[in-house]
Amino acid sequence: MIRYINVKSRTRTEFIDITEKVQEIVKETGIVTGVCYLFVPHTTAGITINEGADPSVQYDIQTLLNRLIPFDGDYHHREGNSPAHIKSTLIGISRSIFIDEGSLVLGTWQSIFFCEFDGPRHRRVALKFISDK
Ligand code: ZN
Repeated sequence: MIRYINVKSRTRTEFIDITEKVQEIVKETGIVTGVCYLFVPHTTAGITINEGADPSVQYDIQTLLNRLIPFDGDYHHREGNSPAHIKSTLIGISRSIFIDEGSLVLGTWQSIFFCEFDGPRHRRVALKFISDK
């Protein structure tokens, strides 16, 4: 069974913390130990795990990505959103997180971020769970 989290981005590039939503779904599954797979079924978005305590970290990551991959450039893709496709490939569209004692095994400062690179849009993240038992 695959579960989905709906995400609504509000700006062109945005990191949206989905940690609590993922954890809620983990609780609903009743899985005690196992693995949670997260997959973004989009070509202009991504998913990453990084610091959630200080929003300036997300700001810095986005600022550097926008500097490395400018919105305007000599891109061939006619849709005009090549920078978003490139960022999606660099950041990646899937992650896996262990589950132990019914909770995601994340470091103290780690949060899960849906990464919007071509917003605003309605998006979703697919979740698949494997239980040890
Ligand atoms: Zn495109």
